[in-house]
Amino acid sequence: MAANLYVHFPFCRSRCSYCSLYSRAGSSPAARAEYVESLRVELDALVHDFTRTHTDPAPTLNTVYFGGGSPALCDLSPLRAPLKQWKKGQTCFPLFEFTVELHPLDVTPAKLDELKSIGVNRISMGVQSLNDATLRAMGRGYTADEAARAFELVKSRFDNAGIDLILGYPGDPTTKNAEALLAPLATWGLRHCSVYSLQNERGLKNVPDDDTVLDGIRSAARFLKSIGLERYEISNYAVPGFECRHNLAVWRGEDYIGLGEGACGRVGLSRTRNWWGQTPQNPNKHCGSATSVETVSEKEDIKERTLFRLRTRDGIDSSHFPEWQPALDRFVTKGLLVKIGESVYRLTERGTEVCDSILEELV
Ligand code: SF4
Repeated sequence: MAANLYVHFPFCRSRCSYCSLYSRAGSSPAARAEYVESLRVELDALVHDFTRTHTDPAPTLNTVYFGGGSPALCDLSPLRAPLKQWKKGQTCFPLFEFTVELHPLDVTPAKLDELKSIGVNRISMGVQSLNDATLRAMGRGYTADEAARAFELVKSRFDNAGIDLILGYPGDPTTKNAEALLAPLATWGLRHCSVYSLQNERGLKNVPDDDTVLDGIRSAARFLKSIGLERYEISNYAVPGFECRHNLAVWRGEDYIGLGEGACGRVGLSRTRNWWGQTPQNPNKHCGSATSVETVSEKEDIKERTLFRLRTRDGIDSSHFPEWQPALDRFVTKGLLVKIGESVYRLTERGTEVCDSILEELV
């Protein structure tokens, strides 16, 4: 039995102006250490559970993803022991991927060594912009040069490393001139790049209109292709072979376990969500163990696992859902999908730009 594991770390140095992710600034080292200790206990319990309920000699993990927040604000070394148990008996070790999200200000030789020691082999660094004024407005706390130096240090220890960018931030010139302004990235040795359009959930003023942002994304995609990164999902580009296996596993409908505050999971027909913040029963600790579980029907389950694939280059196989056929064929006529063989549909370039509306129609 293999699984994918997502672990959430809800701590940040400060809150960025655009961010609505579940995280908080101002935590103490003691609170972070307590959180990691809770995760260590939960990881141990997971290993025990898997060993007890599955016939495999040891639980196996295909992918692990530490996201946040800024996981590297925590001392992660206490998690080495339970993670080593997971890796023992690993039947698909060459496929094993262990990603940690890094903020550029957290990148030090000592932190990178700590990550190596717990088995991390992939880094995703949130750069967001190469424009210093935009970085200042976002509240990121570093310049583009500092981000470049941090990434250089990452690359000296981790070949499999990439960055995140945001387009559409108010006043950011990159949105209108992405190809030229992202050009310095050509020398960074990127293996992966995620390009997101700003989700304006914090009500920022003067955000560019959708068409401008769409043009910016197209321009960024052209640039990334020119340096060898292929688009393999709506917002994700990689040198072939360096796609994020964890995210692909989720989009391809595999099970994943979510640990930590705010994390979600999908195991069999269960959908889990960990409590955000404190509960009356558990006022002082993180609430990863207070999990709500929803059970979905088999039909809903396969539908969800199938639909997510539309985001990827794989496309979706509609053979289990003949009721989708008329809508899918209509999208083919509009040039948003291509049909491959009898029942597989894949997004066209234009389709990637309106994927959400296609999914809405199918749900
Ligand atoms: S963007 Fe990242 S670092 Fe900034 S507030 Fe959100 S989670 Fe924290």
